[in-house]
Amino acid sequence: SRYYVLTRRPNGMPEKGVFELRNATLPELQAGEVRIRNRWLSVDPYMRGRMDGVRTYIEPFELEEPLEGGALGEVIESRHDDFTVGDRVIHMAGWRDTAQLPGDQVQPLPNHEVPEQAFLGVLGMPGMTAWLGLEHIAELKSSDRVLVSAASGAVGSLAAQLARLKGCDVIGTAGSTSKREWLEERGIRAVNHRQTAEALTRDLQQAAPDGIDVYYENVGGTMLEAALNVINPFGRIAVCGMIAHYNDTEPAPGPSNITHVLLRRLRMQGFIVLEHMEHYPRFVSEVGPRVERGEIDYEETVFEGLKQTPDAFLSLFEGGNTGKMLVRLEGS
Ligand code: NDP
Repeated sequence: SRYYVLTRRPNGMPEKGVFELRNATLPELQAGEVRIRNRWLSVDPYMRGRMDGVRTYIEPFELEEPLEGGALGEVIESRHDDFTVGDRVIHMAGWRDTAQLPGDQVQPLPNHEVPEQAFLGVLGMPGMTAWLGLEHIAELKSSDRVLVSAASGAVGSLAAQLARLKGCDVIGTAGSTSKREWLEERGIRAVNHRQTAEALTRDLQQAAPDGIDVYYENVGGTMLEAALNVINPFGRIAVCGMIAHYNDTEPAPGPSNITHVLLRRLRMQGFIVLEHMEHYPRFVSEVGPRVERGEIDYEETVFEGLKQTPDAFLSLFEGGNTGKMLVRLEGS
């Protein structure tokens, strides 16, 4: 099996050298285990947090141990009653070509007529995050005007479309012209988030002269500062992520207007999707048919081959992806 390890803890934006490809012969399969040939690997922004040696809501990656992450593959050997050779499954033993793990850590794919890798994106963890943040955290109503940051990414692109389908007026932010065009084509007014808080505030005021009621936060920094300027009293903020800070090497300044949380009586709530997975069946039965019918669009950016996994991951921080960032393994 070929797998990636982290050789040292990165400081700031990781250098490619912190990732090293290793080779090992897998031990014989134990009772209850399955062996899986991975076909698709997911790389996600939260992985950056696990590269620091600190426990947050999740354990840090161990140095010199196989890295982990969402993956989809085909069972090639099974000593577990629920799985037979040929089954397609989802699990967390990513960053490698062959996974071997207990069958109770492996999930079969839900039954929907979509390309399998959608279960790592729009119908997987990122999709569930979008839906959960809107429905359960922000408690979205059709009368809300909604702002979604990083709205052409895996989470943001579904959050923006779900809010539109609910009848909300939606503004999405993205860092490139082509990403903003993608949003505009889907009835989402697009604003560039890669600018100063002042310029961003001005653009948001123009896009939403009456302010916003819900902010779906994926970015942080100047983006949050600008969102706080345009949010209405009693607004709700679902804090999903703050990617602009993941490579910070010192405490970030601002937002200088954080007191708006008080003055405007805002509700701002963070959430971790992994703590709400009991809602996954409801999410997939609600959103799955809408993806199958083409009511919801999703994009993918695919890097080819296991050796591209570090590049795919690092590219997330440069905005190299539209929609879900994936790695397709050889022969898949
Ligand atoms: P995306 O597909 O959105 O990829 C990341 C995107 O973020 C990039 O394409 C880029 O888009 C944008 N970005 C990167 N760096 C910056 C920066 N410095 N400033 C502004 N924008 C930046 O990733 P995901 O959809 O997987 O994740 C989106 C957010 O959701 C992340 O913050 C992630 O941590 C969070 N998340 C939280 C979960 C939870 O349980 N709370 C679960 C899953 C994800 P552009 O080119 O438009 O700038």
